[in-house]
Amino acid sequence: MRQRFGLPVFEAGWVWLAGAGPGDPGLLTLHTVHGLAEADAVVYDALVDDRILALAKPTAELVFAGKRGGKPSPKQRDISDRLIELARSGKRVLRLKGGDPFVFGRGGEEALALVEAGIHFRVIPGVTAGTGGLAYAGIPVTHRDTNQAVTFVTGHSAAGEVPEGLDWEAIGQGSPVIVLYMAMKHLGIIASKFIATGRNPDEPVAVVSNASTPDQKVLETTLAKAAQDVAAAEMAAPAVICIGDVVRLRSGLDWLGALTSGRMLDPDPLGEKGSGAEQDGERQQRPNLA
Ligand code: SAH
Repeated sequence: MRQRFGLPVFEAGWVWLAGAGPGDPGLLTLHTVHGLAEADAVVYDALVDDRILALAKPTAELVFAGKRGGKPSPKQRDISDRLIELARSGKRVLRLKGGDPFVFGRGGEEALALVEAGIHFRVIPGVTAGTGGLAYAGIPVTHRDTNQAVTFVTGHSAAGEVPEGLDWEAIGQGSPVIVLYMAMKHLGIIASKFIATGRNPDEPVAVVSNASTPDQKVLETTLAKAAQDVAAAEMAAPAVICIGDVVRLRSGLDWLGALTSGRMLDPDPLGEKGSGAEQDGERQQRPNLA
């Protein structure tokens, strides 16, 4: 593979900081697959899918660096120290993180610790849950007819609280589409904050948990009802939450739902093509999906 695609040599003593995408191994980049095949040590987070770890070479040391079973997660400094120690012992170290390492993933902090320690590294971006995860639910984060901007927001500060440093009013009033990461715990509070900024309580919201894995679940709700509907559906993290009109496109673009359930897709999900087209009987299933 390396020769064929001109991929870089994984040098001993280097750390590759790589994104594993939201779950589906098919969303890995060639760089990450190559890194998995070559690494002597793979340091991975809780959100990295087992099917992806199975791509590591059989002799690779697998080091878990996430939170599991309610146990506290290793401190960030400990993880960075472990990366440095493994690299200094001459290993090829693949630091594998869910999604994209530079999107709410502390990849920057780890890379800076490597810089400080004089360790060579490479960054391999990944498909982030806020775009790729939503695409698996049939939601484009931008669409010409609905939004010319999108804002990615974390619903969780370092201390586990609703982030305080955010200008909720500016985001609520200025961003037609908002994508929330790590927001399940405080969803009720966050939704109220946005309603208080003037957003429509009936605005469409989609919650997508375990996106792109066999356990993917999608809930369509509204800003006012989101928290109670999530609780009623017993949906749990990891989940991305999308607020805005793009959610309405799902009735036309839920390709995965069409594949798995044979559901008909609506060719006019925003209802813009006039009467008739959106009549149930006239709905067309998109070709080439099955
Ligand atoms: N670096 C990651 C984000 C890490 S923060 C990325 O780029 O995707 C962890 C949050 O990411 C979760 O709380 C959730 O909001 C989101 N997330 C990660 N994987 C997900 C998945 N498969 N489905 C839904 N949300 C996911």
